[in-house]
Amino acid sequence: MANTPQDPAFDAFVALSARLGAEPLLVQAAGGNTSVKRDGVLWIKASGKLLRTATTEAIFVPVDLARVRAGIAQDLADPTAGTVLGGSTLRPSIETTLHALLPHAVVLHVHSVNALAALVRPDGEARVADRLAGLRWAWVGYRRPGLPLTRAVRAAAAGVDVIALGNHGLVVGAADVAAGERLLRDVEARLAVAPRRAAGADAARLAQAVAAIGYRLPQDPAVHALACDPDCLAYARGGVLYPDHVVFLGGEACVADEPAQAARAIADYRARWPVGPACVLVAGVGVLVAADAPAAAEEMLRCQADVLLRVPPAAPLRFLATTEVAELLDWDAEKFRRSAAH
Ligand SMILES: [Zn+2]
Repeated sequence: MANTPQDPAFDAFVALSARLGAEPLLVQAAGGNTSVKRDGVLWIKASGKLLRTATTEAIFVPVDLARVRAGIAQDLADPTAGTVLGGSTLRPSIETTLHALLPHAVVLHVHSVNALAALVRPDGEARVADRLAGLRWAWVGYRRPGLPLTRAVRAAAAGVDVIALGNHGLVVGAADVAAGERLLRDVEARLAVAPRRAAGADAARLAQAVAAIGYRLPQDPAVHALACDPDCLAYARGGVLYPDHVVFLGGEACVADEPAQAARAIADYRARWPVGPACVLVAGVGVLVAADAPAAAEEMLRCQADVLLRVPPAAPLRFLATTEVAELLDWDAEKFRRSAAH
């Protein structure tokens, strides 16, 4: 049972998963997940695995669909416990219960940048409503990924094919792979937003900060928008907006008003959090990342820039509450995912 199916339908599912995983506007790092239901088995992406490696690595884990569903119905603390089939040592995605709950054969869950630009706003539901008109869709306000989110979807999203998750992303369900991709592309097109152009980094002044604190330049220069676009910086100072940002970049931004203050900003951050900041935003100058920052952290910085450049200036945002941030950081399953992604 643990052997991955070898047939054109499963291959098409794997290929779509890899395609979606290779699109930074849909999936970043180990975020996002896909699943297919066949013969009573839910094949779901394993926790910590990258969707973009779907065609080169065994990233899907089979679970007993009926048992997971029964566990959800019984409100078990962990409906996926003991449901992995065939001796797989992979751990099913934290969103497995959500995939199991939905009736569709194919379920695609993405952290869509275009969607997030609306989903992080207090009036996100109204903003997407116009654009999704005519589709069978529902809005589900922010809940912690995992069972709390699954329960909210169960209560609010019966009979729909598209779910807009506040401060989180999109879920699309369909009868087969082709229909799933069509629907997701349609939703993406409806929600598309053109990003602002951002000024680039001030290389000379950024070098001063590098010398002072030992952080390094990011691989992707696009992330400098977070420090160089005044509105991005104001939003970044305001808080965090979706779960994976917290998982990979922590619960608040470390901001220095100028290069000479970068070391002080890091010390202040360390006084409040158990680990140092993965990055420092130097206002009007650019972004630096910790020497050991994993690729996942840099992908999440790019995602943050991509989202915030799609939010118009001075818009109110619905930041995650302190309690919501805390429950993400203390959560064992998320810790596992973070370490697995390194
Ligand atoms: Zn998610």
